[in-house]
Amino acid sequence: MGETEFWQDNASYIDSVLNKFNMLADDTYIYMLHLDQNRAWFSETAKAYFGIQDTYIPDHYEIMRDLIHPDDLWEYEEELPKRIRGIDLDRELCVRMKGTSGEYHMFSFHTDIVRDEKNAETYLLVLMHNENVLPRIDALTDLYSHARFTADLEIEIGKKEPFAVLMIKLERFNNLNIIYGTDFTNQILKETALQLIYMMDENSAVYRLDGPKFGFILRKCGREGLLNFEQALRDKLAKGIQVNNRQITLKICAGAILIEQYDGKADAFSSKAAYALGHSETEHQGKLIIFNDEVCTSNSVNLELMKIIHQSVRGGCDGFYVEYQPIVASGTGRIAGAEALVRWRREPYGTVPPGMFIEWMETDPGMYELGNYVLKTALRETVGLLALLPEFVLNVNVSARQMEREEFRAEVLRILEQTGFPAGHLCMELTERCRDMPLDVIKREVEFFQGHGIRMAMDDYGTGSASSGIVLYAPMDEIKLDMSFIRGITEDAKKQAMVKSIVEFANSSGMSTCLEGVETEELQNYLRKYQATWFQGYYYSRPIEIRKFWELVQNGNGAQ
Ligand code: C2E
Ligand code: CA
Ligand code: CA
Repeated sequence: MGETEFWQDNASYIDSVLNKFNMLADDTYIYMLHLDQNRAWFSETAKAYFGIQDTYIPDHYEIMRDLIHPDDLWEYEEELPKRIRGIDLDRELCVRMKGTSGEYHMFSFHTDIVRDEKNAETYLLVLMHNENVLPRIDALTDLYSHARFTADLEIEIGKKEPFAVLMIKLERFNNLNIIYGTDFTNQILKETALQLIYMMDENSAVYRLDGPKFGFILRKCGREGLLNFEQALRDKLAKGIQVNNRQITLKICAGAILIEQYDGKADAFSSKAAYALGHSETEHQGKLIIFNDEVCTSNSVNLELMKIIHQSVRGGCDGFYVEYQPIVASGTGRIAGAEALVRWRREPYGTVPPGMFIEWMETDPGMYELGNYVLKTALRETVGLLALLPEFVLNVNVSARQMEREEFRAEVLRILEQTGFPAGHLCMELTERCRDMPLDVIKREVEFFQGHGIRMAMDDYGTGSASSGIVLYAPMDEIKLDMSFIRGITEDAKKQAMVKSIVEFANSSGMSTCLEGVETEELQNYLRKYQATWFQGYYYSRPIEIRKFWELVQNGNGAQ
């Protein structure tokens, strides 16, 4: 039988299977592989997504070699022949694949053997699910999600008509969270979302971004429209919302960008609005900051700097290096470990601390590369210390951009293997934005890494709306208390009560604790009564380069 006739003869069965599965999910693409002849038939959606022209493919390996990331190809070539033999059909296989956009996404493959009883043919059915596609609706508030925000922004840019992007953040939200707990603050977010929805019309849309941040796309909107809209928003929230019979007044910080030029991607525009929001919060007491004004005036240097830092990441993290700050045993003050902290240095800018770029980088996909660069560098530079300090534990910050990527798991294991760093001496600190990830995803990833012996810590505990939720749900090994609890603690009864109860909670749940921001000897002595496990702060040392850290360990108390 010729090829065409063969397929024609089997076409109706293949079509029926493909159609059935095509209805299952939006982000799943399918192909069927004829087992005797190795020929494949791709669903219409798969053809469109991957840019496949032919109806059936004589050698599917050839096509897959073009689509699968070169680093993942071995996995496919090793696994697929097993599936064809009916082995490991239930095991998930994950590889990165390239669509017509040229961008790689992580796909998980699910396989099954199906039979066409009429023609007595057997096929391997392969469902390829795109894991990178994020939910379009925010589960807590029912507003459109961050992913939808990016997608809509992309569409808006394509229209080439002026519009504005506004971002707001509820102020002092962290305090509310500490005082009233997450159930209550979740209610606030829901109620706020409702109020915001009431304010929308056909030219405006609201989105829930991370934590207490909301985004707006304001179509056909110039400077005046933006100013009016922002003022109305501010007034509305200042009047307050009702939650559990309490009237809560809300203050906001706000950042925006007016878009009149359309060459750029959504990510670039949203990080500019985020940058303006950051400035509103840190330097302008919450007043609306419009990015366009900042660029033209005082902060043009910063902007240029951001661009250069961004390019550095893309160019293999050129200019980045890692400093180490000791973490000491609270009782003895002896070095027990260190936290790796990234720095960037280039003339004429000098050394730039992460506070200047991390929050902004977190909105950029390049954070994945940068985070992994820090991990690799830190493990390579400190592995030798274990000979001097056998109990040494290295803490490395991990961002949401890393945790949310499926391939991060393999990357961490690869780095451990390459550097020879023992997994049990690595502790990964989950930083702020990780808390906006779905709890079950965090739990799954935390458990995966713990399964490989890696310790997991919650960084800046108590500052974000979700940190206590995470610690209850995902079994963390360590809690790091944010410096804001420690600053001024000796005169602040509330802070004393907070630190006491958090440390007690951690101790009774089998978690260790680290108090950050220990700046003086008096503070150290005062804090000892809380029985936290570790201290970290300028009193012991500022973050220093690896060479100096070695000296500190050799000369200091660590070597004894
Ligand atoms: P963090 O993880 O909470 O790190 C502690 C920060 O507090 C560091 O600032 C450190 O220099 C500073 N610090 C330590 N002891 C004291 C003290 O006694 N007093 C005061 N006032 N400050 C102290 P740094 O290095 O500027 O880092 C800022 C933040 O940037 C970090 O906060 C972390 O969230 C982020 N970051 C740094 N490196 C990385 C990284 O490699 N990846 C990711 N995702 N984030 C990083
Ligand atoms: Ca940290
Ligand atoms: Ca911290």
